[in-house]
Order: sequence, then structure tokens, then C-alpha cells
Amino acid sequence: MNGFLKGALVVGGGAAGVALLRRTLFPGPRRRYEAWERMPYKDFPNKVLVVGGGFAGYNAVARLCRLARDRDDVGVMLVSRENYFTFWPMLASVIGGDVETKNVAQPLRRTLIRLGASFRRAELEGVDTERQVVKAAGKEFPYDHLVLSLGAEPAYFGIPGVEEYAISIKGIGAGEEICDRVVERYEATTLAGGDVPDSKLTFVIIGGGATGVEVAAELHNLLRELLVPDFPNIPPDRPQIVLIDANKEVLKELDPALRRVAQMRLHDLRIKVINNAKAKEVKSDRVILTDGREITSENVIWTAGARASKKLDDLPFPHHERKGLTLDRYMRVEGYDNVWGIGDCAATIEEDGTPVPPNAQAAVQEGETVARNILAAIDGEELEPFRYQSLGQLVELGSEFAVNEVMGVKFSGQLAAIFWRMTYLYKLESPNSRVRIAADWLLDLFYDPPVTQIRR
Ligand SMILES: Cc1cc2nc3c(=O)[nH]c(=O)nc-3n(C[C@H](O)[C@H](O)[C@H](O)COP(=O)(O)OP(=O)(O)OC[C@H]3O[C@@H](n4cnc5c(N)ncnc54)[C@H](O)[C@@H]3O)c2cc1C
Repeated sequence: MNGFLKGALVVGGGAAGVALLRRTLFPGPRRRYEAWERMPYKDFPNKVLVVGGGFAGYNAVARLCRLARDRDDVGVMLVSRENYFTFWPMLASVIGGDVETKNVAQPLRRTLIRLGASFRRAELEGVDTERQVVKAAGKEFPYDHLVLSLGAEPAYFGIPGVEEYAISIKGIGAGEEICDRVVERYEATTLAGGDVPDSKLTFVIIGGGATGVEVAAELHNLLRELLVPDFPNIPPDRPQIVLIDANKEVLKELDPALRRVAQMRLHDLRIKVINNAKAKEVKSDRVILTDGREITSENVIWTAGARASKKLDDLPFPHHERKGLTLDRYMRVEGYDNVWGIGDCAATIEEDGTPVPPNAQAAVQEGETVARNILAAIDGEELEPFRYQSLGQLVELGSEFAVNEVMGVKFSGQLAAIFWRMTYLYKLESPNSRVRIAADWLLDLFYDPPVTQIRR
């Protein structure tokens, strides 16, 4: 890594340290009472229940608590499947060892309890709109206002074999699962003295959006850099990475010039990109494309589609299978005054009816607007329509290169990679993760992260 990048990362680490010190010394205004002095959630006259604590739900709860800090009539509870939320933009970095899974998990309890919300780790089972209760983990949680923020999950479009044979980004463990698969193949290849079919060492990523491109670049880092000294019997050029994309160019959501830069970078990393191609079937040892081509591989990673949470099918609310809950422009679920939908499980629309893209920025903004709207509804005031403000897009291709578009400014390369890191470091919720990740990045300048496979 060159001196410029090292210097910039050291400065970045320093900046993160200063930010942490500032937060520690000046933690912001204190609450009027401690969390345990509050009355129980069920006794508040206005109970706001948020189900799903990801980007959208977490921000809705945090904003509500801040706005209602001086009010004793609004109680807030978050019910979520896990007691952390997954900081998805950093998940791919786990594959190349830049970030540890535990730092991608952003704790929900600590901040929210301090802010005055209640938290229950429970999986949603159903909603009784007559009695205004949510059923989760065999219990009932009452609400006056309900916010659904259940996120999305992979969509397989009925393609045979994908669910069975491909690894998909379903949860926080996906980064480690991919890394473990690579190490498993490498250990087996070494044990067999290299006498394994090429399909064992060919890694196919289906989907050329931001996630697919980031996964491919991280795999390059793992296969062609980190593992090379550990597996001297495997020629570094033998493992192959193939990225299959249905579009003419990868990253179709980006500006055309940036797309081409990304395509060139993938070429430099010796990642084979197959454009204008769709998977027809995935088998245990190959991917068959719709044009009849076959790629032999026993390691397929699926990043080609997402849909709103399937849990919506069990709830009594109008929704589109892929896009999610049907909303009005204030984010109320159609036909309900006190049920709201935000994030990837909701088909959010702008004031003029334009669909809002399912991404983290939108989810955060929706969480903040729904908080204001719920308080407005409680107070009988006018609601504000949702207005999405896109701040841009950042895509990292390995730790030393990114393609970014920020408020219309396009840039790529090392500087863009530093910008990517600083932005997401800043956006992490947990100061603890922020410092640990910054420290890991600094350490990586001097030592390659060890790659092991913990078999359970
Ligand atoms: C690998 C990956 C990388 C990404 N990178 C970027 C990026 O770089 N930039 C960007 O803007 N966007 C990115 N995104 C998209 C972004 O992360 C999502 O748009 C965002 O997380 C949506 O927020 P959400 O709150 O709707 O869903 P989530 O953040 O997924 O949260 C959903 C929450 O609901 C909970 N939940 C789900 N079902 C239940 C249930 N039945 N009961 C209780 N709780 C439940 C989950 O545990 C979770 O906490 C990425 C997504 C992925 C998968």
C-alpha cells in the first residue's frame, strides 16, 4: 500500500479518535430522568410500537425519542428479531478480512434504552388491528401507532437451484460464510495435492449491482492476496472469479463514466465479467445461462435480487409482493391512519408519486420523517409528505479503490476509497465499532489479517 494511502488512513483513524473523544467528553443533553425511572411502555397514553430495528426502524425510534424527550405522553418500544442491526454497507468487507462481523452488528439496546425507548428481542408473528396488538414470540404488544420496518430479503425469481446451491446475502453471517467456503476449498485442494476439478476453485457471483461488485472485489483480495502466502501449493492464478450481470454494464444505477471505470478496475483485478447474461439454473457444479452457456463452479454467490420481507404475507395489510407495503405519501399504510411503513419493506413514494429507491439513505430519512409524522398525528397537526434527498452513491472495489458519486461530483480511485471509509466510519451507529474498525484498518497497513475457518 502506498505512503499516500497510509497517511490518509492514519489521518482518518486520528479523526475517528477525536470524534470519539468529543462524544465521550460532551455526550449531549442529559435526559430529565434515567431510563429505569420511566413508567412502563404499556402505561403511556400514546404507545408507538416499531417492529424491525434496522436502518429505518432504529432511526425512527431514535428520532421519536429525541423529539418526545420532554413529553410524558409518548412511549416508544422497538421489537426486533435481533438485538443488533446489521450495518449492511460494510458486510462485503468481512470477506476480505478488513472488518470483523461483530463490528458490523450495531447494538440496539444501549442507545435506545438511554434515549428512553423499550426494547424486546422477538420475532413478529402477526398483527390484530381490531385490538391494536402485535403478536411476537408468543406475547402481545399493544400499540396506538404501529411502524413496520421489516426490511428485505433475497429474491430468487423462481430460478431452479439458486436457493439450494448458492450462498445468498441473507444475514450478518454471509461475509463469514463466503470466506469459510473459500478456505474450505483451499484446504481440500491442498490435501488433494491440487488434484481437484477447476469448479472447486471457480467463484461465480450472480448480480452486477453494488453488492455483487463489492463481493467480487473482496473475493479478489482474499484469493489473490491474503491467502497466497498461506497456500503455497495453489498457483495464485488458478482460482477464478466470474461476475454475471444481466445488464450491458455493471452498476447500472451509477453514472456511465463511473460504470466504465468500475468495469476497467474489475478487468485489472482479473475478474471475468459476463454482461447481458442471466442465470437460468444453478446446479451443484455449474451455472447455466439463458443463452445456453455453462460455467462450471461449485461456489455460487447470489446477489441479483431483493424483495420486501415475506412476513408481510402473514399480515392484514395491502402490499406488493416485491416492493412491499402500499403507502400514501405520508408513509401511512393504505386504509390505516395509525399503521406506517418504512424502509425496504415499504413501497415508499415521494410527494409526486415517484417511487423511492430501497437503500440505507432512504431508510434513515423515512425513519426520521415517520417520527415527525407520528407526533404530528398524535397532536392533530398536519402531516408532511416524504421527500427523498439522494446524497449520492459509494461503491468500494477492494480496500484501495472506490467509485463515488456525491451530490453530482464523480470521483474514483484511492481518494474515493478513503472517502468511502471515512463516510461509513462516520455513519456507524456504535462509537465502539467505529474505533475498532478504524484500529483494524490501521493495523492492516502493517499486518495482513489472519484468515482462519472456525468449524462448528
Ligand atoms: C450486502 C448489502 C449491502 C448494502 N449496501 C448498501 C450501501 O452501500 N448503501 C446503501 O444505501 N444501501 C445499501 N444496502 C441497502 C440497505 O442496507 C437497505 O436498504 C437498508 O438496510 C434498509 O433498511 P431497513 O430498516 O428497511 O431494513 P434492515 O436494515 O434490513 O432492517 C430490518 C430489520 O427488521 C428485523 N426483522 C425482520 N423480520 C423481522 C420479524 N419477522 N420480526 C422482527 N424483526 C424482524 C431485522 O432483524 C432487521 O433488524 C445494502 C444491502 C445489502 C444487503
